[in-house]
Amino acid sequence: MLKENYQAVFRNITKACANKGRNTDDVTLIAVSKTKPVSDLQEIYDAGCRDFGENKVQELCDKYEVLPKDIRWHMIGHLQRNKVKYIVDKVCLIHSVDSVRLAQEISKEAVKKQVDVDILLEVNVAEEESKFGLTVSAVENTVREIAKMPGVHIKGLMTIAPYVDDPEENRQYFAQLHQLSVDISSKNIDNVSMNVLSMGMSGDYMVATEEGATLVRVGTGIFGQRNYSI
Ligand SMILES: *Cc1c(COP(=O)(O)O)cnc(C)c1O
Repeated sequence: MLKENYQAVFRNITKACANKGRNTDDVTLIAVSKTKPVSDLQEIYDAGCRDFGENKVQELCDKYEVLPKDIRWHMIGHLQRNKVKYIVDKVCLIHSVDSVRLAQEISKEAVKKQVDVDILLEVNVAEEESKFGLTVSAVENTVREIAKMPGVHIKGLMTIAPYVDDPEENRQYFAQLHQLSVDISSKNIDNVSMNVLSMGMSGDYMVATEEGATLVRVGTGIFGQRNYSI
């Protein structure tokens, strides 16, 4: 069943790519597996998925221990500085960097463990009060600060769009994040690339793909509703 869901999401991404003349290979589907049991992840893994997203450090580490080592783990949730040390050598990408202080901690741990850590800057494009993320206007200066740090490499931008019934409402925010990445890319800042755009969730990943997402983060659409009470 999960396998069918995964493949259906994949087909929708292919459709969205076709709508805009994009290459499907340029979009990676991240299965957001938070709260879900390892057996569910294994099922999707067996269907070919190698990219999984988690939002809690402990849960990511627990699943990392028991699942195949060729999985690419994505940290997509708000990250506290005191937990950075547990994940820098386990994740392929941290999507949720929203401050210079957090990046400093990642840099410190990366140097200590002699690893290179790829990150995205989280941008609160819609300026929702309830959400983490940098304001659009703060992004360029933040990029310039973090670019100087050893062991961390900015690869692009990430946003969590508002929860809406009609995904078309979020098209403007995806387009805005895309434009911002183009603007920053044109500044040719050392140690910074803007090739990655992490945007789109179960409700709006097709619109996000049409607007240039290279990583889409889909949870419910693959695994079904989450139950937080257990
Ligand atoms: C939970 C989560 C998702 C997946 O949300 P769904 O609506 O279940 O697809 C994507 N991105 C982030 C940052 C999340 O926390």
